[in-house]
This record gives sequence, structure tokens and C-alpha cells, in this order.
Amino acid sequence: LPIHEAVLGGCATGEHADRPALVDGLTGRSVSYRELDAGSRRLAAGLAAAGVAQGDVVALLCPNSLAYPLAFYGTTRTGATVTPVNPLATAAELAGQLRDSGARWIITAAAFLPLVRQATAEHPPAGVFLCDAPDAPNAPDAPDEGERGAGPRTLAELAASDAPEPAPRLDPAADLAVLPYSSGTTGLPKGVMLTHRSVSTNLAQVDALLGPAPGERVLAVLPFAHIYGLTALLNRPLRARSTVVVLPRFDLEQFLTAIQRHRIEAVYVAPPIALALAKHPLVDRFDLSSIRYVLSAAAPLDAVLAAACARRLGLPHLLQGYGMTELSPVTHVVPPGDPHPPVGTVGRLVPGTELRIRALDAPPRDLGPGEDGELLFRGPQVMNGYFGRESATAATVDPDGWLHTGDVGHVDAAGWLFVVDRVKELIKYKGHQVAPAELEALLLTHPRIADAAVIGVTDAHGAECPKAYVVPAFGCDLAEQEVIEYVARRVAPYKKVREVEFLEAVPKSASGKILRRELRDRAARSAAATTAAT
Ligand code: ATP
Ligand code: MG
Repeated sequence: LPIHEAVLGGCATGEHADRPALVDGLTGRSVSYRELDAGSRRLAAGLAAAGVAQGDVVALLCPNSLAYPLAFYGTTRTGATVTPVNPLATAAELAGQLRDSGARWIITAAAFLPLVRQATAEHPPAGVFLCDAPDAPNAPDAPDEGERGAGPRTLAELAASDAPEPAPRLDPAADLAVLPYSSGTTGLPKGVMLTHRSVSTNLAQVDALLGPAPGERVLAVLPFAHIYGLTALLNRPLRARSTVVVLPRFDLEQFLTAIQRHRIEAVYVAPPIALALAKHPLVDRFDLSSIRYVLSAAAPLDAVLAAACARRLGLPHLLQGYGMTELSPVTHVVPPGDPHPPVGTVGRLVPGTELRIRALDAPPRDLGPGEDGELLFRGPQVMNGYFGRESATAATVDPDGWLHTGDVGHVDAAGWLFVVDRVKELIKYKGHQVAPAELEALLLTHPRIADAAVIGVTDAHGAECPKAYVVPAFGCDLAEQEVIEYVARRVAPYKKVREVEFLEAVPKSASGKILRRELRDRAARSAAATTAAT
């Protein structure tokens, strides 16, 4: 099914038609399922009349708002493909994604117009549309009259046209619904070709584990522009006829206020928010008793931290999910109803998907339960490839259709998956493998450590060894030696942290991933400075 059918099909006539699909977490304004369905159809008509055609790529650069899903499904209803842009993108990053994806159209918010103009100065798009009114708060002065005419039209203006709704003939297995960019944690972000079929199938697969959730109140604080937010906070809850309470960005106080005011039941987070929930003093000032489950995904979550977070919220445990952009994106999730998921698991395999775990050493062989190796997946949710990158595609999806994740993990005898870290991040210390995620988790258990990141650095003898970057808790004193000893008392000798540096904040991506390459650059710079000084 096309994605808009998979998510919204039948929503305008069923028993949920007049229930709220989305609620603005700040203003309380809401959109019903009937309005969302009709609005996205009218917008599709307006976009098509404005020239958006089947097969075009439309860049969507907007913070979370009620307009986001209208823009998203309005675009897919024209047969065009959405390439979501991270609202934190710089002009250069935006220009890069526009060029790489071949996006001809841009839907954005008024506050982003200066950035869009800067990014498109050399290659003007066919059209720019606004998802909010030009007089929205923070909007710059109305755009100059001139080459671009009277300034961008708003989606509301487009939707007011009486043009007919387009009826594209989509091939769900070949036509792209979304062209998301991977987070760029390990290199440059790559455009990931996801068809209507792969995204819709993945929603059905996730449904099999998460179960029905009509009317469930979900808080959308992660960006819809990242595949995790798009899936967990838009496509999945709307398909389940839940109610999505939307926040434009993460601000702890706003987030806690929204949970209390809207009696939120389902909270999807990335590890940095779980960290705040576990450690921040503000949390105790709110009534969070409506929360039924908290699910974390997108980056490694430490088990001790997860337990602390669950305890504080009065929950039996925190849930996790695992996936990647290339997998549409989910392969594993812990079902909210499961009474006893083992500590630290990222979940059970969704149906219709095969998992193989391959030894990291040569020659490659398949591993059994309990043994760590690279995770390989095959199933209908595997991407059609990286857009315009044939060799990167060939290096990731093998001829038999297996996607090589670059992640290390194992399953237990009952089939629960445990993710250790990325293959490339493992530190090789004297023939042993050390997972930075394990040391980071341990560091976070220290009461005076607010946040931590670990990378491999080369020591004076040319050996790779773990170095910790540590953010001391607010107002706390912490000595390097204390950190080294804290770890040394709790791990095998080869895993010891050998160097410590204090930081004000750990660099992280929008989806909460530690940007280790920035730390590696920093380490390289300080090593160069040391060499120069001696
Ligand atoms: P790039 O591929 O551009 O370097 P990225 O891999 O961070 O960036 P995403 O597709 O957003 O881009 O992230 C997928 C990755 O996130 C997975 O490969 C895995 O390393 C990590 N991940 C996702 N969920 C979990 C989880 N529950 N626990 C640990 N790691 C996770
Ligand atoms: Mg990746």
C-alpha cells in the first residue's frame, strides 16, 4: 500500500474520524482524523496544481507541528517523494541534501526562509512553500518582492485551490515514499531509498509486536524529520488511531509539562532524554503518573540508567527498540505488554524478517545464541539502496539481499537481541575488543558524572586504548584519577580507561547519538599540539 493509505486509509469514516489525531502540545489546538485526511487530500491537489509531479523529490524542512503530517501525506499523495531535512541543518548541509537528493521543491517554515535562500542561492528550486503563515512568531520580514514574485505560498493557500486530487499510479515496490538521510554518525549522511512497500510493511511488522493502541496519548518530542520520530511518532501512532501530542523541540520543562497536562501514556525517547529523566531534579516536580511506558531507541542505552529512569517513573522497566534508516527502520522492539523482558535487551525480531549473526573474525561464519557478531538482516523492509551511491549500496546489501548493519550484538536463547556497539567503534586493546558503549554506561553510574563518551586513542607505545570524555555533574569536583580508578575497580584490566578529559558537553546528533568523530578530531588536535610543544 502507498504510505498515506497504510496510515490514513479509512480514518475519515471509521469510529475514530472525529477523534483528535494530533494536538499541539503548547496551544492545545487539535486536528481530527477526518480533518487530517481531508486536509492532506486538498493539499495534494494544491501541490499538484502548483507543479509537483509524481517522481519529484520534495524537501521537508520544518520543526514538529500539526502542519508536518499534512505536508508529508499531502506530498506522498501526489506521488512525489519526501526527503525530510533535519531542522538543525546548516545552510551547507541543506544545500548538500538538496543537491544530492535532486529535490525540486521545498516545504519549510517562515523562520527558515533566510537559511533556505542561502542554501539555494546557486540552484533555485522550482518552488518553496510555507507550512506556517509568514506572520508566524519568529518569522523574518516578508521576503523581498522580485525574482521570486510575491513570496512563497502557504500550504493553507495551496489547499484552498479547487484543483482535482491527483491520482498517481504508484508501484509500491519501486516508487520511493521517503528519501531520509542517515544520521551521519560514521561518515557523510547517505540518502536511503525507502519505497512505499518497505515503509508500509515495516509499520505492519511493528504493529505485530506493539499491538493496537486506539486513543493512546503519545508525546512527539523527537523530530519527525528523523526516521525514528517519523515512524514512532507519526506513521505508527496515526495508523493505530492514537493521539499524537506535538512539541516543536525538546525542552525538559516543556516536555514534563506536556506529559502532565495531556496525561501522556506513551513516551518515545532517545538516550539523552532517558538520561535527563533519570538524573534531572526537575522531574520530581511533575505528576508523570499517566505514563504507561517509555521506549528508547537510536543509540545504546545503559541498563543501570534505564533502571534508574524506570524506578523514578514508577515503571517496571524501560522498553527499547532497535533499527536503522536502511531498515525502514525497525527490526526489534520490546512489546509494552511483555512482563519480563531481560535487562538491556533491545527487543524481539519483528515478523517476516531474518537475522543472522556473523563472526567478526575471518573466515565469516554464523554464530549461535550468546555469541557477539555483526548483525545481518533480510526482509521486505531492507532499503532499495543508497540514492546515487552504487558502491556504498553494494558494500552494505549483499547479492543475496542481506543488509550488513555494522552493529555488533547477540541474541539469547529466547531470541531477545542485545546490541553491543558499532563494529567500527570497537577499541582493539592488545587483541581484546572493548565496546565504548559499555564503558560509557559504567561511567554514567558514577553519581558525579553527568555524561560521558569513550573513544579509542593511540597511546605513547602506539597501542589503541580507551579514553573517556567526562562531563562532571553540575557544581561537582572530579579528578581524572578518580574516574580512572572507578572504572578500573569494575572491569577486566584490558577495558580500563587510560586517559580522561573533562568536557562541558558531549557532542551529540539530533537523534541523540554521540558524535565520536568530533571527539576523535579533538584528540588528534590535542595530540598534534603536544607533539608541536615537545
Ligand atoms: P550513519 O549511518 O550516517 O553513520 P547512523 O547509523 O547513526 O548514521 P541511523 O540510521 O539514524 O544513522 O542510526 C542507526 C544506528 O543507530 C544503528 O546502526 C545502531 O548503531 C544505532 N542504534 C539504533 N537503535 C539502537 C539501540 N537500541 N541500541 C544501540 N544502538 C542503536
Ligand atoms: Mg548507519
